[in-house]
Amino acid sequence: MSDCIFCKIGRHELASDIVYEDGELVAFKDINPVAPVHVLLIPKKHVSSLLDEGAEEGMLGRALALVPRIARQLGLAEKGFRLVVNTGKEGGQTVGHLHFHILGGRDMLWPPG
Ligand code: 5GP
Repeated sequence: MSDCIFCKIGRHELASDIVYEDGELVAFKDINPVAPVHVLLIPKKHVSSLLDEGAEEGMLGRALALVPRIARQLGLAEKGFRLVVNTGKEGGQTVGHLHFHILGGRDMLWPPG
């Protein structure tokens, strides 16, 4: 989608602090971090959420498999991290492009708010 901010980040049309990139997926630092380490992993292709039919198994599997690699790269392997995929309005999703939050660098609370 041409006006989607995460599509623009994936196309390098909008500046972001990229920590990982391949042909299909890109991970970049969240502009408003809620933890000392807060990275968003997205598909470059526009997929609106986990509920989108475009959220296909292969891409989801590759994204999930990348998470520990990115977490290690960010220094989160020793103490752990949290992976969050807010989905839809009640799920707290505010940007309509599928994204995995990788959060770390502090103790996480449960249940989340
Ligand atoms: P959601 O609430 O949809 O799960 O998460 C959206 C996330 O995207 C938020 O944590 C927000 O700070 C982040 N975000 C929104 N706009 C931008 C942006 O332009 N650049 C970056 N790097 N992060 C953004």
